[in-house]
Amino acid sequence: MLFVDYHTHHERCGHAVGALEEYIEAAMAKGLKEIGLSDHQPLLHVPHIEGSAMRMEEMPGYVEEALALQRKYRGQIDVKVGLEADWVEGYGETVRDLLAKYPFDYVIGSVHFLGDWDHTNSAELERWEGRDVYETYVEYYRQVQLAAASRLFDIIGHLDVIKRFGRKPERSVEDLLEQTVVAARDAGVCVEVNASGLRYPCAEQFPSVRVLEMMKSHGVPLTVGSDAHQPGFVAEGFATVYALLKQVGFTHVHGFTGRKRYEIEL
Ligand SMILES: [Zn+2]
Ligand SMILES: [Zn+2]
Repeated sequence: MLFVDYHTHHERCGHAVGALEEYIEAAMAKGLKEIGLSDHQPLLHVPHIEGSAMRMEEMPGYVEEALALQRKYRGQIDVKVGLEADWVEGYGETVRDLLAKYPFDYVIGSVHFLGDWDHTNSAELERWEGRDVYETYVEYYRQVQLAAASRLFDIIGHLDVIKRFGRKPERSVEDLLEQTVVAARDAGVCVEVNASGLRYPCAEQFPSVRVLEMMKSHGVPLTVGSDAHQPGFVAEGFATVYALLKQVGFTHVHGFTGRKRYEIEL
């Protein structure tokens, strides 16, 4: 059984395809118990970039449509209304104000940006040139730790996504990973196991097995997401990911309603 998918996008962001309802239908077809809608927040720290995220004026329509679908599908599948927010140092209060306006079930906090660089975007890969990979990892994990400590978010998204395009530091980042897992535990925030990494050059889920083991030993709660940007990718890779969770020894994943966390037995 595949249980939950808490990370999906849709056409409003400009780089995903399909309407919200198509993601819900795909989730039902795959037998999920819950489907989370979590499109990207409008950009706050840089002006709107076409194809990067919805515009601020689209937010009310997004949430209204998601809530209407939640009501429509009640009794068939639990639809959760969420958002994938950006953590950018210095913009915490701006994000807090935005989140306070809407009745979200959950909010994912992700570090896509280091300054104005979206390191998760394949179109900005050339910006790795001239950068020290290890120092970039240090800065990335510092930001993830700040995101956790901000307590703005229910879930940390794709915790080790800095590895997405296969850039690997020459030095071990074991300590950085451990500090980041401890920061999540201290903040009481859930960490997402994101299956989309299986489709990228890094060729494994976010986060790695090593991080999952650290999460297990520190008692960090987790949830699962596909990061689908088309309906056909809902729950993609979940057989692999759910099997891995059991192998590492996890007995539960977590869901959210009204920003309150609950356990779902595996
Ligand atoms: Zn996206
Ligand atoms: Zn993301």
